[in-house]
Amino acid sequence: MTSNPIPFVCKCCGACCRWPGIVRVNTDEIRAIAAHLSLSEDDFRDQYTRLAPDRTSLILTEAPGGACIFLDAANRCRINPVKPEQCRGFPEKWNVPPEYQQLCAGFRALASAKKQQRRAASSCGIGHIHVLGHPLLPLSVEDAPADAQVFTCHNFCLLLDYLGIPFTYYGISGSQVPGEGNFADCGRPTGPWRYGNRWHKTYTQRLNRQLAKRLSNDRTPEIICSLYGAAQADIDPAGRPVSEPLLGYDHCWTPYRVFPSYAHQHVIYAKQEDFTKNNRFFDTVIPHFVNADDYWIAAHSDDYLLYLGRDAADKGIDIARQCADACKLPLQCVHDNCFGADKSELIARARAVLMPTLYVEPFGYVAIEAQFCGTPVITTDWGAFTETIVHGVTGFRCRTAAEFNRAVALAPSLNRQAIRKYACDHYSIEAVAPAYAAYFDFVWNVHKNGGYYAPDAIRDQRQWGNSPFA
Ligand code: SF4
Ligand code: SF4
Repeated sequence: MTSNPIPFVCKCCGACCRWPGIVRVNTDEIRAIAAHLSLSEDDFRDQYTRLAPDRTSLILTEAPGGACIFLDAANRCRINPVKPEQCRGFPEKWNVPPEYQQLCAGFRALASAKKQQRRAASSCGIGHIHVLGHPLLPLSVEDAPADAQVFTCHNFCLLLDYLGIPFTYYGISGSQVPGEGNFADCGRPTGPWRYGNRWHKTYTQRLNRQLAKRLSNDRTPEIICSLYGAAQADIDPAGRPVSEPLLGYDHCWTPYRVFPSYAHQHVIYAKQEDFTKNNRFFDTVIPHFVNADDYWIAAHSDDYLLYLGRDAADKGIDIARQCADACKLPLQCVHDNCFGADKSELIARARAVLMPTLYVEPFGYVAIEAQFCGTPVITTDWGAFTETIVHGVTGFRCRTAAEFNRAVALAPSLNRQAIRKYACDHYSIEAVAPAYAAYFDFVWNVHKNGGYYAPDAIRDQRQWGNSPFA
């Protein structure tokens, strides 16, 4: 999905001239601006500048309300031809945080144009995706940072927004849908959810009502995506295909499933033998993903090992403790309340992240988060780790105490830049989005055009090339 870069175009909204902050001016700039205003340099300094809070330079004064003194009523810069270098370099020479990009009309237009470009490049023909989200919690990663399914719902919305596919999120009141998604409010839960209980039935009725209002009346290709398995198994899809993307649980039910690993796919197939026998031609495997910008390589690493996960024997916490003891290194165990920048920094500074999970891990987000931070991952040698950890490159997969201990000793020899690059190439939104776009088209095609025998039913054309028979 490569395409030409789209240039930033200022929309003259004036927001950046109202942001909190300072505009520094040097001697040459003072001379040029004073001349432009037909003032002496001294008069210009007196009328329009003051000392910066750090006392290292002069800065422009502000109008009442905080806007730059030179911003006029029509949002134009009164000294535009001679404005300071700090302003001329905006935004190209700035690292503009996302919350400020949201305030800038130019950045918003650029994001929208990039989305359209990605949509065109993916040639995804799906007109709308209906996302059935969390049945108990509002969609808010800030309010429920430890809930994996809230994180999954949020990530899936980010993916659809990235691809420019219009979507509606069906969720609990108070949800904050990322990007340009619509929200269908399913109210508040009337109690805990269990399959078949009172809230399950009420939730199903509410979903059906909301879907009936929003499903199109024409032939628009639409897919319903279920992100909470059995909680949504009794809905009326009105003939639309229902898919389960980012599937990390056991109670899956649809004929179109996206597993994050072959390991998890095979566990589910073994568990659901009857359902699986004749019904599994339309599944696929696409790994989970995260936003690469949320993780970074630390300026320096500290010599500790990190265990980030549940305080549970089946997660291998005892192996992690034994390994740290044997290697005489401190072990940081973090079980919850760790997210955002703090989480990235904690991972990035570790010598290695230990994930000695004893069961068949469906995916293990931490394994890829660590790789985005350039931190080696030391795991058991089964489950999704066999697909996400490149032994000797991004980490080590181990089966004995000796192997775990050797892996800890070898971890500093791995190249952190190379580890992050591997993660960006395989587990960023940019890397994964094309596979999802292709799969959505595939699902619509097989659903509408004859299933197994549907013409051109190929999950991802990039992996198959052109037909030699064409
Ligand atoms: S906020 Fe963005 S669009 Fe608005 S004036 Fe500044 S650079 Fe231009
Ligand atoms: S000098 Fe001009 S561009 Fe710079 S902040 Fe002031 S009004 Fe905006």
